[in-house]
Amino acid sequence: MEGTADLHIHSTHSDGSSTVEELLHRAQKAGLTAISITDHDTTNALEEARALADGTGIEVISGVELSTTLGNAEVHILGYFFDHRSPGLQSYLAHCRTARLRRAERMVEKLNGLNIPLRIESVLEQAGTGSIGRPHIAHALVEEGLTENYYEAFSRYIGNGKPAYESKDQVSSAEAVDLLAEAGGLSFVAHPGTMIDEGLLKELIQAGVDGVEVIHPSHSPDLVKYYRGIVHEYFLLESGGSDYHGLKKGGADMFGKFRISQECIDMMRRRLQ
Ligand code: AMP
Ligand code: ZN
Ligand code: FE
Ligand code: FE
Repeated sequence: MEGTADLHIHSTHSDGSSTVEELLHRAQKAGLTAISITDHDTTNALEEARALADGTGIEVISGVELSTTLGNAEVHILGYFFDHRSPGLQSYLAHCRTARLRRAERMVEKLNGLNIPLRIESVLEQAGTGSIGRPHIAHALVEEGLTENYYEAFSRYIGNGKPAYESKDQVSSAEAVDLLAEAGGLSFVAHPGTMIDEGLLKELIQAGVDGVEVIHPSHSPDLVKYYRGIVHEYFLLESGGSDYHGLKKGGADMFGKFRISQECIDMMRRRLQ
């Protein structure tokens, strides 16, 4: 592990299962020098994270993960270094969170139509005050004894194209990139290895993304090399992190296991000047 920064972490403000306090505690134990909490469609973790990091030597960089579309593909865009008080950004995020709630209601209706008696209250309980996503529906299904486990919820009902699936609002990747730039931030193509081919990546570069998430648990060493090559070729920035969502789903503990170097962060800062 070369680096000391993890710029892709989720908290209970979206579909992560660790609180901001737990995340900061772990970041300190892991010896991280910089983190970013990149919740889906919310920056509500930021102020608490900065207050907790005060005096620890950990830099908390503003972050968010936005779901966008380019053609028929779903593209996740990571934003960093923006001013989280930007009214344009916050009204967009509030709109997305409301749309997520409506979508969860539609998915519950579809499940009910399939004779799965899930109640929306049980999903809301999983989400707490956080931005609602399919993981909350999956956990609610397990909690209510309506599916065997978390992964079965996706493979039978709510995975892409499954009978209770509903898509999110369509926002173009270019719009998200512009919004982040207007808020003074940088935008990155998240985990391209999971869903993006080379043609799509080139289109995103043309749309003005500032960088690519090179380091991600889904990227093999060969893919890391490949994306690093693209970053150099197009004068882009490199980001990366663990995409940690907590321990609730089972599986390996990824916290702080995927890191980038401080040099990558310095380069981001220079790009903003
Ligand atoms: P949403 O943003 O509400 O569409 O939820 C997307 C999240 O659901 C992803 O970040 C994954 O954590 C999870 N997810 C999506 N598809 C699957 C799947 N087939 N198996 C397990 N988790 C999934
Ligand atoms: Zn997530
Ligand atoms: Fe993502
Ligand atoms: Fe993520």
